[in-house]
Amino acid sequence: MSAVAFIGLGTMGQGMVANLVAGGHDVTVWNRSTVVTDALPSERVVVADSIAKAVAGAEFVMYALADDVAVNDVVLGARGIAASVDVTSIVIDLSTISPAASAAEAAAFSARGVRFLDAPVFGSKGEAANGGLWIVVGGDEATFESSKVVLEPISATMHYMGPSGNGAKMKLVGNLVVAAQLEALGESLSLAKKAGLNLHDVLGVFSVTDFRSPIFDGVGSAVIADDYSPSFALKLMLKDGNLVKDFAESLDVAVPGTMATVSTIERAFDAGYGEENASALIKVLASDAGVNLAK
Ligand code: NAP
Repeated sequence: MSAVAFIGLGTMGQGMVANLVAGGHDVTVWNRSTVVTDALPSERVVVADSIAKAVAGAEFVMYALADDVAVNDVVLGARGIAASVDVTSIVIDLSTISPAASAAEAAAFSARGVRFLDAPVFGSKGEAANGGLWIVVGGDEATFESSKVVLEPISATMHYMGPSGNGAKMKLVGNLVVAAQLEALGESLSLAKKAGLNLHDVLGVFSVTDFRSPIFDGVGSAVIADDYSPSFALKLMLKDGNLVKDFAESLDVAVPGTMATVSTIERAFDAGYGEENASALIKVLASDAGVNLAK
């Protein structure tokens, strides 16, 4: 079993740490705010009071941070991971960030001769909690093989995507689909409701047809129960939508559907739904249609 440093104990990090501990690893954690560490299995987790102390002696350094700004602060800052980590460690970034930020941290680790993987995840709070994430990995393949010992306890499947940065790119490609599905669900439920269809019946059809999706099943049921409690915060979906837009623009690829969805997410954010689940974008579409999806 390995000595693991884990940085970033938000929605995703907490579940990942619990599964690393359950997998028998010795985990030392650091988080910007200390409050959430109370929820961890305290007898098996060491809480460090600095990044440098957390990563000292770690075989693996893993982190699930909010965005490019957080990675810039925590990884590339003067007292950050890149400056503090042992040269023998393997560093694994599980955050959803831009390919440019991923390249910057890969360069910083490479300059010190430290092995690094970009390894963002699909799945949400539930999959993080039950060790069922789907991980997409970029970087050196031998480093990926060496890292399976800490990726297996948190994942259902691991996908090696190729050189450094390919995990970050795959994550944005996948989140384009997630955003499109949420927009499609919101538009279709709003239309169905206004047309007088029973939404339980509509979701029953969605769940068996050749366009079925676990997102339609899970989010659809929550929406008609008026449940927008956060597993994946709308503010993070807005971040990801903008990352997809910028990524596509950098490659001169048109993504008109994503542009429309990002505009819906922005309106939901402006309406004050940023801390609610990403599915709260559906409230905007229902409001436009003049329907209440929970009644
Ligand atoms: P979260 O609950 O908002 O947690 C974010 C983490 O980043 C917290 O530990 C937070 O620390 C830390 N952080 C933010 N800004 C920071 C800064 N400037 N300096 C230091 N630490 C900072 O987010 P999450 O849902 O766990 O998501 C984590 C990552 O996984 C994100 O990139 C997200 O897009 C991705 N992801 C999330 C989901 C999901 O369903 N939630 C699914 C797939 C991928 P504090 O506790 O101090 O705020």
